[in-house]
Amino acid sequence: MGKITENVKRLLSEVPEGVEVVAAAKTRTADEILEVLDAGISKIGENYVQEALTVYESVGKKAQWHFIGHLQSNKVVQVVPIFDMIETVDSAKLARKIDKYAKLNNKIMSILIEVNSGREPQKNGVMPEDVENLVREIAPLSHTKLLGLMTMGPFTGDPEDARPYFVETRRIFDHIKSLQIPHVDMKYLSMGMSNSYKVAIEEGANVIRVGTKLFGERACKYE
Ligand SMILES: *Cc1c(COP(=O)(O)O)cnc(C)c1O
Repeated sequence: MGKITENVKRLLSEVPEGVEVVAAAKTRTADEILEVLDAGISKIGENYVQEALTVYESVGKKAQWHFIGHLQSNKVVQVVPIFDMIETVDSAKLARKIDKYAKLNNKIMSILIEVNSGREPQKNGVMPEDVENLVREIAPLSHTKLLGLMTMGPFTGDPEDARPYFVETRRIFDHIKSLQIPHVDMKYLSMGMSNSYKVAIEEGANVIRVGTKLFGERACKYE
């Protein structure tokens, strides 16, 4: 059994039922992605459009593709046709552009709102107090389906430090859910990475995004 296969099987055996794993595949090759898919994970997360287009050529519809990086407005045209979900929507302007291209592609684009739970000025995502307004702006869009929230949280290396930010994002998630806004289906809460997914699951995540723990250390660190 290959190392990646072993890692996938170990992670899947640890993760409770109802929690979906997105394999965060930045810098990974199509062959590495195919190994993850063969081992039993169906969702692949990509941060960079060019990289995604390259691996998509060989992997294609064998995977469900989640966009998990910062989405620049001028890349929406390339992202909408191939991705199944965009996890990082943080403005009404971006959502409207996604909606326009989804309509042109005859699809309903599933999206999550990215919350800047740590209120870090250099990070993307909408501030916690602005989430509700953004939800209300996105809800009426005809070709965009809002399905939940995503957050990164500040990274310190100690997963316990991330816990308050996961708790805060969960609180916002539950609040939005309780509003029962038409056309909004608060189904997914995407939180936690290789070092923090256990804490994230304890705090209510049902989507986790895991890279290093499946593929091994990245040769070059992005971000
Ligand atoms: C890279 C990345 C991950 C996974 O990080 P690991 O520490 O390698 O598990 C999760 N989410 C996002 C948005 C990422 O860019």
